Amino acid sequence: MSVLGKLKPEAIWHHFEEICNIPHPSKHEEAMREYVVNFAKKNNLEYEVDEVGNVVIRKPATKGMENRMTVIFQGHLDMVPQANSDVNHDFKKHSIKPRIEGDWVKATGTTLGADNGIGVAAALSVMEATDLVHGPLEALFTIDEETGMTGAFGLKHGYLKGDILMNLDSEAEELTAVLYSLIKKLTFPPV
Ligand SMILES: [Zn+2]
Repeated sequence: MSVLGKLKPEAIWHHFEEICNIPHPSKHEEAMREYVVNFAKKNNLEYEVDEVGNVVIRKPATKGMENRMTVIFQGHLDMVPQANSDVNHDFKKHSIKPRIEGDWVKATGTTLGADNGIGVAAALSVMEATDLVHGPLEALFTIDEETGMTGAFGLKHGYLKGDILMNLDSEAEELTAVLYSLIKKLTFPPV
């Protein structure tokens, strides 16, 4: 049953809850990679998995915006796996249990993985949206950000086509709201 289903923007929280159900500690990102690859397939979006296991998904511009600069959303597939001492949690097998507490989404007994699950969820929600006007978009999801950044260091020249990179692995408050309103009025100049 959905715990976060009533939160808005719904698209973001839908993906975030799905991500909570997918074990994805650092160095064990296979299932998360599968999730974003399946997402790309389902939405008929071009995607590429590189040698180290990073994923990039590409979305063409909407009509009339083809000459805009390409914006890259950057996030990472892994999370920090930490459980309370009284909790028996296998991060390679078990789901994170999110709950709403006042104005906060928290996890019971473990880290929540908002870093960077919410960034990944925000990027996916934009990549699947049909009501936004935008130039070409890329979503980059690296592996192993939390324990060595081997994904980011393994990026090959030419893997990304974009001009402007937005880091969604940020501790800024209200990231998703800012991202959404920004995307809604992307007015970057023509290339
Ligand atoms: Zn992070």
